Amino acid sequence: MARRPLIAGNWKMNAGGADGCTLAANVARLTAGFGNVDMLVAPPFTALAAVAHELSQAPRKVFLAAQNMHFEMSGAFTGEVSPSMLKESGVEWVIIGHSERRHIFGETDTMIAKKVIAAMRERIVPIVCVGETLDEREAGQTLEVVQKQVLAFRGALAENPGYGVIAYEPVWAIGTGKVAKAEDAQEVHAMIRKLLAAASDELADTTRILYGGSVKADNAAGLLGQTDIDGALVGGASLDAAGFAKIAEAGNQVAAAQA
Ligand code: PEP
Repeated sequence: MARRPLIAGNWKMNAGGADGCTLAANVARLTAGFGNVDMLVAPPFTALAAVAHELSQAPRKVFLAAQNMHFEMSGAFTGEVSPSMLKESGVEWVIIGHSERRHIFGETDTMIAKKVIAAMRERIVPIVCVGETLDEREAGQTLEVVQKQVLAFRGALAENPGYGVIAYEPVWAIGTGKVAKAEDAQEVHAMIRKLLAAASDELADTTRILYGGSVKADNAAGLLGQTDIDGALVGGASLDAAGFAKIAEAGNQVAAAQA
């Protein structure tokens, strides 16, 4: 079945002030004609409310995501932000378990599963990231590692098939300029979809699985043309509205050709 491509921009710790509003407005303007794809931006916490306001006046729908959240609703968690706080800021999506959260901030599969459950409960769409390190890939452990990560939260996604999103982001490809070969990425995406199918066909057919890791305008079409790649999670290249729009254009063309 055709899944609508999602082109998502993870701004990381960039564009956290007024420049975030300008970037979001430019993304909306430059992608206004691409009706076959969903667009999303994930600014830092500090810019969420302002970008939500900016996007409410935009010429197209651009979804707004946070880059992380805590799984508790309130309490003594200094420096953390809860799902309900995100909602109050106009956020409807959240990136969970990004490799930088896993590897720099020590997030575990257990914590990530709790966050996915909390997001689904609060009606915030989770984009859950998985991916192997270079050592794991070279040791031939890619499928095994990604399978373990997916199985940790599959049950939560199965509660509401098609609501949550998975992003396969090989750690060695993030921010390195080393993009995965389209057919290698497709192999992992197909394995993830098979894991979803083991829970239910509906979950497998409706869950969007994004690829992330050095996606740029010149490699997007090859990746997005793969059967099980339903969009892109873009880091560095999403900070340039024109380049990000070119990735969206590639997704738009692939979707139009498949329609
Ligand atoms: C990311 O941060 O999710 C990412 C994929 O980064 P980049 O596109 O810069 O590799």
